[in-house]
Amino acid sequence: MFVDKAVITVAAGKGGNGAVAFHREKYVAAGGPDGGDGGRGGNIVLQGDENMSTLMDFRYKRKYVAQSGGDGQGSLRSGRDGEDLIIRVPRGTVVRDRETGAVIHDMSDMAPFVLAKGGRGGWGNKHFATPTRQAPRFAKPGMEGQKREVVLELKLLADVGLVGFPNVGKSTLLAAVSRAHPKIADYHFTTLYPNLGVVWAAEGESFVMADIPGIIEGAAEGAGLGHDFLRHIERCRLLIHVVDASGSEGRDPIRDYEAINEELEQYSPALAARPQLVAANKTDLDPESETLRRFRDYIAALGLPLYEISAATGEGVRALTLAAAEALRKLPPIPFFEEEYTEPEEAPPAPEELTIRKEDAGLWSVEGPWLERLLGRTDLSDSEGRMYFDRSLRAAGVFDRLEDLGVQEGDTISLYDLEFEYRR
Ligand code: GDP
Ligand code: MG
Repeated sequence: MFVDKAVITVAAGKGGNGAVAFHREKYVAAGGPDGGDGGRGGNIVLQGDENMSTLMDFRYKRKYVAQSGGDGQGSLRSGRDGEDLIIRVPRGTVVRDRETGAVIHDMSDMAPFVLAKGGRGGWGNKHFATPTRQAPRFAKPGMEGQKREVVLELKLLADVGLVGFPNVGKSTLLAAVSRAHPKIADYHFTTLYPNLGVVWAAEGESFVMADIPGIIEGAAEGAGLGHDFLRHIERCRLLIHVVDASGSEGRDPIRDYEAINEELEQYSPALAARPQLVAANKTDLDPESETLRRFRDYIAALGLPLYEISAATGEGVRALTLAAAEALRKLPPIPFFEEEYTEPEEAPPAPEELTIRKEDAGLWSVEGPWLERLLGRTDLSDSEGRMYFDRSLRAAGVFDRLEDLGVQEGDTISLYDLEFEYRR
């Protein structure tokens, strides 16, 4: 079974907790704090894979959880970082946000993509030691990892798409021009998932050809198999329209040619407008058949060139691939899907979600899921990010609440792995 769409949920690893520990050594009284930091949680990383051509793997496994970071230990030992979880997807998979449908990323290049970031590890108590606070008895918890629900959608990356009715010889043609081994058979609908093959056209020049499962009449209205598969040729820059010109099996190439073009038109006018090369196949059976002559005249009347081929014997196939290579040289590159996803505006915070505590003289801590989310999405290395962060804290009433609790100018405010001095 061919699967070209899947919904998965991913959860990056939680950060490890910081440790509360004190140095102990014989004959050394009152050793200092030496609790180490928690490790970072593992990321969820997507990686394009050229050897995969279906999302089948995601049919049964839908949840992906990356490893948590280890907790910090005494003697300043940091927890280990959680391992990234790498999920392989077919090259060309488009990742969308489940809720909004917005494109998060197009896995068309081979660069890994971080889909969910692991939580940061919490600080150990060593971080909180100062000359006036020599024995802090607290440490920070690790932050939650990012969680997402996404739709994976396969959008094949091919320069040339083969279209045509079942059994006209599309798979045979792909096998003849590339090293792909598509299934070839006498019965209809043998091609149940797309096959890609690299075609070497000329010295140093190659392109990718896709054999798309047969389109059948009425497919665009969802009547049959073809409809779903039409979206796989959306990215193709050029179509090769294959007909059986032998009249074997009683096929009429003119009717077939028109029917396929109607299907394309109904599914997507853009697809119907894609440049096509017309290939009359199976000419080995009878090179001068009445059917072939009629088709030849019909295509000539449309003012189009006709490529008469035999995928079985190889006759005319080279001329067709050279023409395809030539046409591709003038066509724009394979389109990428632009990223559309933007983080949703933060919902107004529920203040009770935030815990504000006095940890020690002059040291306050603020914690809560809202703050974790805010920290997770703010880039504090950037001045705009810092201003946004400050505004958000203010709007959430954090400063008012600190004031009510008696915060003093110059006190330290600790937020997970971040701290700053309080200024009014
Ligand atoms: P597809 O459904 O369009 O992929 O068609 P296939 O490639 O599976 O071919 C269908 C049948 O037609 C198979 O039995 C092939 O061997 C046969 N066939 C394909 N191309 C040719 C050809 O050029 N000449 C002849 N005689 N038979 C062919
Ligand atoms: Mg086939």
